[in-house]
Order: sequence, then structure tokens, then C-alpha cells
Amino acid sequence: MSTPSSAPPPKLAEIIAIGSELLTPQRVDTNSLIVTESLNMLGVEVFTKQVIGDDRERLTDAIRRALERADIVVLIGGLGPTEDDVTRDAAAAALGRKLEHSAEQEAILAARFRQINRPMAQNNLRQTYLIEGAEALPNPNGTAPGQFLLTRRGALALLPGPPRELKPMMERELLARLKPLLPPQAIKVRSFRITGIGESDLDTLIAPVYTKYTNPVTTVLSSIGDLWVHLRAQGSTEEEADALLKEVGDPIAELLGDRVYSTDNEDTLELTVGRLLRERHATVATAESCTGGTIASRLTDAPGSSDYFIAGYVTYTDQQKHAILGIPEELLAEHTAVSEPVALAMAEAARRLSGATYGVATTGYAGPSGGTETDPVGTMYLAIAGPNGASRCTRIRHGADRYRNRTLATQFTLNLLRKTLLGAIHPRPQ
Ligand code: ATP
Ligand code: MG
Repeated sequence: MSTPSSAPPPKLAEIIAIGSELLTPQRVDTNSLIVTESLNMLGVEVFTKQVIGDDRERLTDAIRRALERADIVVLIGGLGPTEDDVTRDAAAAALGRKLEHSAEQEAILAARFRQINRPMAQNNLRQTYLIEGAEALPNPNGTAPGQFLLTRRGALALLPGPPRELKPMMERELLARLKPLLPPQAIKVRSFRITGIGESDLDTLIAPVYTKYTNPVTTVLSSIGDLWVHLRAQGSTEEEADALLKEVGDPIAELLGDRVYSTDNEDTLELTVGRLLRERHATVATAESCTGGTIASRLTDAPGSSDYFIAGYVTYTDQQKHAILGIPEELLAEHTAVSEPVALAMAEAARRLSGATYGVATTGYAGPSGGTETDPVGTMYLAIAGPNGASRCTRIRHGADRYRNRTLATQFTLNLLRKTLLGAIHPRPQ
């Protein structure tokens, strides 16, 4: 289906991250994600990114090719004062331009060193050279200025490597200079944060809707027990972009129903649960075994969580389940600690001991070993106890990956609480 947009085709960008350390397993290029996000918000699509070591010839070659095929080229890193910082040299060579000393940049740099009361090393002067025709981008967080210049196809930018220098420069300096080069347009985004469905089931459900459109661009991201659908629409006006988001987003929202826990990009499941608890003037306490306190940890991530989080009990051994939570020894002996009756008793105990509205509990075999014939490794019982003796337990079973099991158990339990608070599931009176 063709897109009912009159928006012009997007400008194309290429990113080159520079630094030999980025080619080792110790350091990941995260800066290009920041740059990509900002460019996308201008309607610019990144079609290639690469990582190049501190090698002048290879870098010159890569920049030359990038300038031929991309409208906007962003170089990240290698602007430091040392011999192995070759980005300025390579960019100048690729453009066939000279590097020129800037008296103004030298004055700025000298003032900066005076301010921090340190002598300026001779090699810092390398940072005062600008490519012929380039404008310096101020860097209040470091010594290397960025650089910006217009090219035959569009623009070239040089940004510093340290993320705390790059991010503000991208947002405060570079975006403002790129905007006038782009056609007037509006970019709008819409997000769905989802849990309680697997990635492939999610895609089966919503792909028939979003694959019909290239605008909005739809991205599906997944981490353990958590999914994120992101739509980005481009229009010649805000209304047009909004209409596109509605056309694609509304049917997706309908299909996903209450599996969507938030439509705010920044939200986490625990923030949503906290908000629901607060709205309902309800509180929660946890009794955790296999999750080792991670549910309590996530519930208390948000500032102000003392409004709704009362207490967390981490009882790992049978003896402590009995001593702290008062789980009867006979119950533990009869069913073992990894069982529905014990999970329910733990949730009820958390509630009773703390006086919270809800108690939640986890018990299971997180792995990589353990388990029984009937409850093999990866089996976890997740329980919730609520007002009027109402409680509920679900059994989940995954593989032997300990980290994955604990994360899933935490996520499922938070979701059990969320759905209970929404009234979507009703705990049964015991
Ligand atoms: P400096 O003046 O600090 O030398 P620079 O522009 O030369 O700045 P680099 O030396 O390339 O920057 O990188 C400095 C640090 O920034 C690196 O050690 C690394 O920690 C971080 N860094 C560089 N590039 C990236 C990247 N693409 N993603 C994430 N971190 C990066
Ligand atoms: Mg470097």
C-alpha cells in the first residue's frame, strides 16, 4: 500500500565511529545510537554506520566514500590531542582541504586550562585546528571542539568521543545546523511498552497492520519478558504525521489490549505498577525466594516508592521461610518449598506481616541445576494475595538459564500485580 504522505524522501546519513578501542570486546560504540536517535527525529535515516580504528589511511578512505553516498556524514571520536587522534587529518584529506589553525579556538582552550588551573600541554594545540571552511562547535564539557561544514551533498560533522561531550553537542549544536538544510517536515513518534506475550506472537499479531506502511517506520524491540513497539511518522505537517500514527497505531493498540502497560517511551513496568498502586491507595509487600529481592529492588527504583512499597522479605532457605514468614514446617515438608501452596502462603504472609494491601511471592528452581521430576529446573510459582483472602498463583516454566529465569519471574510477578490492579484478573477467595 502506498503511503498517503506528501513528505519528501528522507535525507540519508552515514555515521563513522572512530577508535581502535571500539574494535575490542571491552568497549561498545554507543555514541552512534545517540546520533541516530537525534537524526531520526529530524526525519534523517541512517543507512550505514561503521567503526574504524585509529588509522589515518583507512579513515580517509571511509570518509571519502561516505561523502559520495550520504547527504549527512557524522564522524564520532578521535578529536583528542594525541598522535593517534586522526579524525581531523583524515577528514581534511578526504575533502582535499587544509587544516587551519584557529586563534579563537586557541584562546578558548587556553582559557579553559586557566580555569581548571592546569598548564596546557603542547599537543593540545592540535585541537585548535579546523578544516578549511568549517565552523567550530563549542564543547563546554571537554577540550576538543566539534566541527561542522557544508559539503556538496549536504553536511559533515565531527563530534568528540566521550558520550557526555557528544550528546549535548549533538542536541544543542548540530541539530540546529542541520535543520535548515532539511525540507520543512514534522516527525512524530508513538510507543507501546508490552509484556505478557512473546516476540513472535506479538509479531504475528501486529505485522499484518504495520508491514503495509513504510511511513510510519515501525520498530519492534525485545528484551527478556519485555517488548517495545515504536512508530515514527514523517509528514509535511504535524497533523499529517499525527494522522499516520493514528492510522497505524490505533489498530495496533486495539490488537494488543491490556498487554500494553505503557504508551510512554520512558516508562518501565515497575513505574506503571507504582502508579496504579498509588492511584488506588494500595500498598504491596514481597516475599521472594528465587528472585532474591529483584522484585523489591525494581518496585523501589522510583522516587517516592515508599508511598506504596511496605516491605520485602527475602527468604531463601526453608528454615527462614518458616522462621520469618511463619510458613508451617508441615506445609514445606508435604509440598516442598517450590509449590503452589507454599507460594500462596508466602504471599499471604508478606501481606499479613506488613499490613500491605497486596503480598506477592516467588519460589522456584532458577537453575542452572536443581528441580524435580514434576517441577524441573526453570519451574517457578508466582503468587499474589489480596484483600478478603483472595489469592492467585501461576506456574511458569522456562529453561535452565538462571538470569533469564529470575528476570522472567520478576517481570511476570509485576505483571500479575498490574493485571490484578487493573481488575483484569480476579484473585480467587481461598
Ligand atoms: P578526547 O579529547 O577525550 O580524547 P576524542 O574525541 O578523541 O576526545 P576519543 O579519544 O575517541 O574521543 O574517545 C574518548 C572516550 O570516549 C573513549 O575512551 C571512550 O570511552 C569514549 N568513546 C569514544 N567513542 C565512543 C563511541 N562511539 N561510543 C561510546 N563511547 C565512545
Ligand atoms: Mg580515540
